[in-house]
Order: sequence, then C-alpha cells, then structure tokens
Amino acid sequence: MTPAAIAGAPALTLAPRSEPGLDVQCLGLVHLYHLEGTEVVALRGVDLDIDPGEMVALLGPSGAGKSTLLRMLAGLLRPSAGQVLVGGRDVARMSASELRAFRATEVGIVLQEATSNLLGYATVAENVAYAARGARQRRAPGAFDRPDLAQLLTLLDIADLADERIGTLSGGDQQRAALAAGVAGGGRLLLVDEPTSQLDPAGRDSVIDGMHALHDALRATIVMVTHDPAVAASVPRTVTIRDGRVGTEGRHGTQYAVVGRDGVIQLPPDLLEILPPQTLVRLRGHAHGVDLINADLEVADAAQRLDVMSETGGSGADEGGGDGHDGAGGKGGRLP
Ligand code: ADP
Repeated sequence: MTPAAIAGAPALTLAPRSEPGLDVQCLGLVHLYHLEGTEVVALRGVDLDIDPGEMVALLGPSGAGKSTLLRMLAGLLRPSAGQVLVGGRDVARMSASELRAFRATEVGIVLQEATSNLLGYATVAENVAYAARGARQRRAPGAFDRPDLAQLLTLLDIADLADERIGTLSGGDQQRAALAAGVAGGGRLLLVDEPTSQLDPAGRDSVIDGMHALHDALRATIVMVTHDPAVAASVPRTVTIRDGRVGTEGRHGTQYAVVGRDGVIQLPPDLLEILPPQTLVRLRGHAHGVDLINADLEVADAAQRLDVMSETGGSGADEGGGDGHDGAGGKGGRLP
C-alpha cells in the first residue's frame, strides 16, 4: 500500500489552504495528573520541534504520555511546567475564549473513537458542515464552505456516503468522516489519536490513504498517536515517547536518539541492557559523536587482559583498556 493520495481524487486548490501548516514547539514540557493523595507524572520534560506541514507519528508503549502530549497540543490540558507553542503562540497562556477560537479555526482534533468526534444520528455531510460552522461564524479565512466540504469528502473517498448516517457506517468510513470533520474548520494543525486502532486491514488502509491525501492537498501539519506499524511506516518521521520523554526518533526508517535541550539522551531498551540505569559511563568524544563506555566492563576487560599477559609473560604494551584514553587504569574488578 502506498501513502499516495487516493487515486482519482481531485486536488484541493483553494487559496486559504495554500498556507502551510502550523509549526509546533514543546519546550521542557512537564505534566502531572493530581490524583487523591498522589501525583502521576505523565510528561517529564518533552522537547520537540515539528515543522510547518510535517506529518509525524507519536509512538511508544501504553502509559508513555502520548495522549497527554497530544491533548496539550490541542490546549485541552495545561502543562504543569514548560511551554507548548503552536504557530508561535503559547497555548497555555490562551484565555478560555481564545482556546475555543483556536480549536474552532486553527487546530482539528480527532479522538480515538471516531464516534466521539461525530454525531452518530447525523449524516456525514451534516457532521462536516457542523464541524465547519464554528470557523465560518468566526469568519476564519480557512473555513470550508459547502462546495469545499463536498470536495473534501471526495478527497477522502467518502463522497458517496455524504447522506449516510454516521451510525450506519463501517469503522474505516467513520474514521474518514472524523478526519473530514477534523479539518473542516480550516485548521492547519490536525491532531489524531490512534486513527486505526479499531479497524480491519481494509479500513486501516483507507484511513492511512485518507490522511496522506489530506496532507498532500491541505499541507496541514499532522501529528498522530499510533501503535500501528503500518501507520508508522507510512510517515517520514516518528517520535517515540518513553517514560514521559522523547526517546528515539525515526527518520525514513532509521532510528536516532535525540539530545534534549538539557543535554539528556534516553537510551533505547536494547542498549539499556548494556548500560543499565546507574551505570557509570566514561564519555569519549570524537569527530562523529560521543562513545559511552561502561566503566566497570572496561576495567574488568583491562584486568582480564593483564591476567592473560602475566600468565603468558606478555610485554603489557597494549594494557589499560586498549583505547589509549583516560580512565580505566587496569586495577581489575569494579571501579573503586
Ligand atoms: P499513552 O497515551 O502513551 O498511553 P497517557 O498520556 O494516556 O499515555 O498516560 C500517561 C500517564 O498518565 C500514565 O501513567 C497514565 O496512567 C496517566 N494518566 C493519563 N490520564 C490520566 C488521568 N486523567 N488521570 C490520572 N492519570 C492519568
């Protein structure tokens, strides 16, 4: 399956949508949920930059903080500390009425269950018209009018379902209707939570194609949370959230660790087996980066080599860890 626009769907060429999407900046984002007598730390200092018009998938284990982050981008939650800037505006500092306008005109949100975004008893066309109404009342320049909305349904390949009630549609069709409603206000940032989690493979593919068709036509910034490898594989950039921080980033299939603004790097789980938490590491900088060397293993390795040399009567010319740098010393065993 290719992430291309839906075959045969006309390109949207409407002037307001020629504006690129909104950029996003998260600066040291922290969020605590306050429960009775305790606090849950959901985000522990997320630094993340997303360019205008980028399409990014947020990945990571359950409970990592993905949905919390997505809700924060939408202004549905205020951070306990740090900043969220969308299009350069500090979302946490918006007043209640500014937030309402922001969500009506600048950001579209598609929550996990398609039906929580839509009126089940109304038709697809009525739902998208309803979703665009707030933006039109505010005279937002990007708001879709009725012909635009018809074109939007065609783009998502659900034009023939325009007069069908949401409650009668398949999961994939409902989800594409929710995407149409999500952008109907002309928002230039679309936030999508688990768009394919309840779908069969055909429905999933139709939703992935729909998201790419929207992205190609509208040039909106799209940030989605997903567990679905097919969705993750279809986007050029993935960001894995782990323990409330940005863990790794995938760019065109290659995984990278990210140095946070505070200099912190989160190691992926497979490397944590080599460097478990609390391990002392020696840092060795060179032209292409920094090596992290487990100091205990390095010392043990040097001691073993000394033992071998003393047994074989070797000269000891290459002793002391073999890298010729500071640190190990060759005393054997754990570091003092
Ligand atoms: P994810 O989307 O990656 O599964 P969440 O953002 O939903 O993660 O949750 C992150 C952490 O915050 C988890 O420990 C979760 O239990 C907790 N959490 C999420 N929502 C709430 C809430 N409304 N009240 C209390 N704790 C919450």
